[in-house]
Amino acid sequence: MKASSNSYRLSARFRGSVLGAASGDTLGASLEQAPSHPVRQTFKNRVEEFQETPRLGLAPGQWTDDTVFSRATLKCLVEYERIDIVALKKKLYEDYLVDSHRGFGKPTEKTFERGTPDSESAGCGAAMRIGPAALFASFYSDLEKFRGDITSIISITHTHPEAVNGALAVAFAIASAVRSELKPDRLIQQTVDFIGATSDMGHKLLEVEGILKRPGLSLEEGFLEIGTRGYILESVGATFYAFLRTPDNFFESVVNAANAGGDADSNASMTGAISGAFNSIQGIPKPWLANLEACGELDDLSRRLCRIVEKK
Ligand SMILES: [Mg+2]
Repeated sequence: MKASSNSYRLSARFRGSVLGAASGDTLGASLEQAPSHPVRQTFKNRVEEFQETPRLGLAPGQWTDDTVFSRATLKCLVEYERIDIVALKKKLYEDYLVDSHRGFGKPTEKTFERGTPDSESAGCGAAMRIGPAALFASFYSDLEKFRGDITSIISITHTHPEAVNGALAVAFAIASAVRSELKPDRLIQQTVDFIGATSDMGHKLLEVEGILKRPGLSLEEGFLEIGTRGYILESVGATFYAFLRTPDNFFESVVNAANAGGDADSNASMTGAISGAFNSIQGIPKPWLANLEACGELDDLSRRLCRIVEKK
């Protein structure tokens, strides 16, 4: 019998979130589209296995910038056992230099060229890397400390209010899942209460909730209305939609997010981070894990991060 989503061990949720995010990034990499194609034209021939990404010179199973930065964040949290913004910024920059061919966005590139964050970009470049920080902060007793620490990590590259709200929304969902408190039918309202109902991101998530409740609307029509570009409102909106259409099915959620096109790798990665925390590592297809770049290293880092959080 399938275990209830409330009964997974903490380490299984940490591993599920980290490896789920990397799997989504990898699956979505070859499906990323130009912004002029807001949603992939069809789900009929959907891609369910890792493919090569000639655009970035990546073999099947290799991931992109999303996982470069999530892994850097993981390594930093495991090494210092606390949030050290100076050390994290240095680590992100070092790994960016090593892996700069893996599809980093302009705001991130500009941040490291200038040494200051981008205040104008409302892209998903901070939301896509927030997973490990959300895991680290998931058992904070003080929600305002959670908001403050997550915001300081976001602000290394992004300070636009909606880029911050979008990343906070993803972090909140991951932390709720890790604490076994995520209820799919209440997630959007609770997330909106956390980030603020008057924010553009809050409005967008409430729009997604309306789309989820509309009878007869196809998966594809939902993505078309929400949009799937890397613009934070679309990207995080599509992420919540992909997760909440099939909350108990990691594979369906991540495959759907990737095949909706747009910023497919980031959308599928964020969906994988949330769904992996909710459904644990047990939800991730074994063939994906067998073919995922640096799976053993990411798994080891996620177990170590879990032990650090359990100790605190
Ligand atoms: Mg990417």
